[in-house]
Amino acid sequence: MNYDSYFTDALTRLKDERRYRVFADLERMAGRFPHAVWHHPQGRREVVIWCSNDYLGMGQHPKVIGAMVETATRMGTGAGGTRNISGTNHPLVELERELADLHGKDGALVFTSGYISNQAGIATIAKLIPNCLILSDALNHNSMIEGVRQSSCDRAIWRHNDVGHLEELLRAAGERPKLIVFESLYSMDGDIAPMHAICDLAERYDAMTYCDEVHAVGMYGRRGGGVTERDGVAHRIDVIEGTLAKAFGCLGGYITGKAAVIDAVRSYAPGFIFTTALPPAVCAAATAAIRHLKTSTWERERHQDRAARLKAVLNAARLPVMASDTHIVPVFVGDPEKCKAASDMLLEQHGIYIQPINYPTVPRGQERLRITPSPFHDDALIDALAEALVDVWQRLGLTFSDRALAAE
Ligand code: PLP
Repeated sequence: MNYDSYFTDALTRLKDERRYRVFADLERMAGRFPHAVWHHPQGRREVVIWCSNDYLGMGQHPKVIGAMVETATRMGTGAGGTRNISGTNHPLVELERELADLHGKDGALVFTSGYISNQAGIATIAKLIPNCLILSDALNHNSMIEGVRQSSCDRAIWRHNDVGHLEELLRAAGERPKLIVFESLYSMDGDIAPMHAICDLAERYDAMTYCDEVHAVGMYGRRGGGVTERDGVAHRIDVIEGTLAKAFGCLGGYITGKAAVIDAVRSYAPGFIFTTALPPAVCAAATAAIRHLKTSTWERERHQDRAARLKAVLNAARLPVMASDTHIVPVFVGDPEKCKAASDMLLEQHGIYIQPINYPTVPRGQERLRITPSPFHDDALIDALAEALVDVWQRLGLTFSDRALAAE
């Protein structure tokens, strides 16, 4: 038996389909974000990161770093076990209180990642509801799809953000229990779910709701409670899920909701029970980021300002910026090889790092560069990015927009 061939063949298939991924070896510089060092075969080189999901740069905030270092110094590095076996540490308990307060819910449960929180949260909640039908948005993240799959419940997929289709499916489902799962902000297109309309339908058809706020927490709402806070619907959603790894600059994920739901997931979810808890230092750092963003609006305002400016400058340069209502700025390429080539040219020739977004993250033909500005991308960096993109677009023969759009 040649076991190796299974793996080399699998890799060859990916390479043939132009889906093989190469990671850039980067070293972030705390205090100088978005600048980083790129370690490449010829040595070290300074580059600018334009695709980080540390959206607000909280991963380098002195309060966050301070909390992590101070807590690790006092309590050590690891959690010491699962939550059951000596893993529940005081910073974790404080973090869960902070998160419940952020979303105005009875309780919160922290997991080791946002991915696990969706997988374990959705699967466990749905499994505990007899004969549950899950209604899932067609563009939900893979972690949600895995949660739906692992529940083994019946499922119905509604067309992305199409509440008419959702209503058809809810009506057809009749009296049985129903769980609607969706994201508030879809991270590849930067569009937002029709939150009120979904809640109206959930109430009319007596369905439970589960909303992933991974790309919105910290960034939207008066206290950073996400789109559900901004749009005044948090109290109408049963379970709000989020991450500590993006706008809060740390690691981990969570769900928040009514006490019984949170306690049931705590008691039944294998993805929670059988894994080591987050280290106290990570919890303390996340709490520091959440607390800071509950009162400081500078990061959110500057973030939106940077996104608007970036869109205006790229549009003026006739680059094909895809319409987005949010801080996500996708630029359309529509070809996997050119997308990869554009990313390589930006890095090698312009010192700009933007990961190509290809299938299966987006459908084939929808390949793009997904640009994420932060409060720390100044006007000069935006102008340099626009010039670099124009150069790459010309050299690769990529399509420009017909006309420059007015600034938004
Ligand atoms: N949900 C969505 C919508 C995501 O895009 C991601 C990751 O990018 C996750 C969940 C997983 O979150 P985490 O990175 O904390 O595992």
